Amino acid sequence: MQVAPVPPVARPLLVFTDLDGTLLDHDTYSWKPAAAALEELRRRGVPVVLNSSKTKAEQLCLRREMENSHPFIVENGAAVYVPEGYFPGLGDRLEPGKLEREGDFLIRRFGAPRSKALELLAELRQEGYQFEGFHDWTPEQLSEVASLPRERAARALERCCSEPVLWRGDSASLHYLQERADAAGLRLVQGGRFLHLMGRFDKAEALGWLRELYEADGRPRCTVALGDSPNDAAMLDAADVAVVIRSRRSNSIQPDGPERVIRTAQPGPKGWQEAMEQVLGGYGCREPAGRGETE
Ligand SMILES: [Mg+2]
Repeated sequence: MQVAPVPPVARPLLVFTDLDGTLLDHDTYSWKPAAAALEELRRRGVPVVLNSSKTKAEQLCLRREMENSHPFIVENGAAVYVPEGYFPGLGDRLEPGKLEREGDFLIRRFGAPRSKALELLAELRQEGYQFEGFHDWTPEQLSEVASLPRERAARALERCCSEPVLWRGDSASLHYLQERADAAGLRLVQGGRFLHLMGRFDKAEALGWLRELYEADGRPRCTVALGDSPNDAAMLDAADVAVVIRSRRSNSIQPDGPERVIRTAQPGPKGWQEAMEQVLGGYGCREPAGRGETE
């Protein structure tokens, strides 16, 4: 699909996107139906920051496929990976004391490691609760559960900071899991397929940290966030334009609006393309009004 030329928007765009069910098709994991919009964003120099429950290994692979060289946010906001040299001249604004270095990336972590989630799950298993998680599975088993090719499943298992589980209990046992997670200083977040047990970080906190770096030159950005599940709600609330991609759970996401909210008619990457055509046409970002201006 061709994106028509449009007048320039008032503020430079900055895009944060969920992956599964949003930029990636829920079943095929393809992003190709959004290729035209991604190409137009690249042509305009708009950063597209992946912000999902996926791991570093999974996102590195996707970034290569998409020819995306921007920072990315892994495991529901657990850590931001910034390519070395991406923000030249920022110096102390990057909070060097809080950064780790890994290969070509600087990493900012936001919460407890995965081991804390695994400790709690081990206790619950001893108490007799029924569940399975990524820690229990080989790449072959995860491949079957999530309908993923084996090599993708292997990348999904390389987790630093969160544990996705399939909880087998009733709603009372789920309530108990929530209580135990709270008591342990952990969060429980429902994603598209799995419940994620993780530290007290979220996609919005990581978005906020990264947006400040992008705005360190003094130019406010118009941030656009796209998501399809309740675990995207905080990210959508934190952005100037919230795109709710149609999914089984999208009706339960209610960002403040309506002037800053786009709800797509189509799911997954087709919805991503549909919404981005509106955004590239100036929706929500043309006039310097709204939340971004008061920050
Ligand atoms: Mg999703």
